[in-house]
Amino acid sequence: MCGIVGAIANRNIVPLLTEGLRRLEYRGYDSAGIAVVNDGIKRVRRVGRVAEMEAGIAAEGLTGMLGIGHTRWATHGGVTELNAHPHISHEEIAVVHNGIIENHEAQRERLKALGYQFESQTDTEVIAHLVHHYFKAAGDLFIATQQAVQDLHGAYAIGVVSLRDASTMTCARKGCPLLIGVGADENFIASDMSAIISATRRVMYLEE
Ligand code: GLU
Repeated sequence: MCGIVGAIANRNIVPLLTEGLRRLEYRGYDSAGIAVVNDGIKRVRRVGRVAEMEAGIAAEGLTGMLGIGHTRWATHGGVTELNAHPHISHEEIAVVHNGIIENHEAQRERLKALGYQFESQTDTEVIAHLVHHYFKAAGDLFIATQQAVQDLHGAYAIGVVSLRDASTMTCARKGCPLLIGVGADENFIASDMSAIISATRRVMYLEE
């Protein structure tokens, strides 16, 4: 179980997300990635250190005011770039996840029958497709996230963003830590307070 950080603000949050992931490095991890909503969902993932992800971000000139980041400790699927988070469904929904989805195989079969294609071996990718599936009907990221987590058995902290609603970030947790950081006209999520300490000290610890 590794690190999550996310931010929604009126400024470029990419430096904050990368700094947050660096502050979570001490927990151990095998790969790192971020995704931002900015004229499409843009993603950089790398196996190895956060520094390697940062080099990729610099090379691609990634910026954005809404985004999520992750350091992964692989539990389902090998240590590869394709298995690194965030996971994306249909270029519209991006998800980061700490924990383990115990019923991921059943959900994978169900989603495949609905036409979803998988590009990773992770348990996490089912969450991205589930949110996408429910968002199609609900048109609301909060409702879609609520419906998706009802299908999950296991332990999770998740952060979700959608291309279709650049003013919203959703999150949920069960059995894994997750908190919301409240700033001035900007808000954050993190698996650990240390990830967002430079941005705010006003924190809400979430119930499951
Ligand atoms: N189970 C997920 C994976 O293997 C998340 C692992 C984690 O908590 O970093 O990708």
